[in-house]
Amino acid sequence: MMFIACPVRGDELIPERRIRSITNTPTGIVLRVDCYCGQQHLVRTGRLAPATTG
Ligand SMILES: [Zn+2]
Repeated sequence: MMFIACPVRGDELIPERRIRSITNTPTGIVLRVDCYCGQQHLVRTGRLAPATTG
């Protein structure tokens, strides 16, 4: 589950099965999600994987 900022409904809690695609970009990871408002939104995140240290 993840929160996204929907321009129509505000913050929405989206289950992972609604993620349609995941794209790695130089500025982070971009998710395309099917929102409950009926649209698809692009969500940028950079912290799907745990940070590696050392
Ligand atoms: Zn939406």
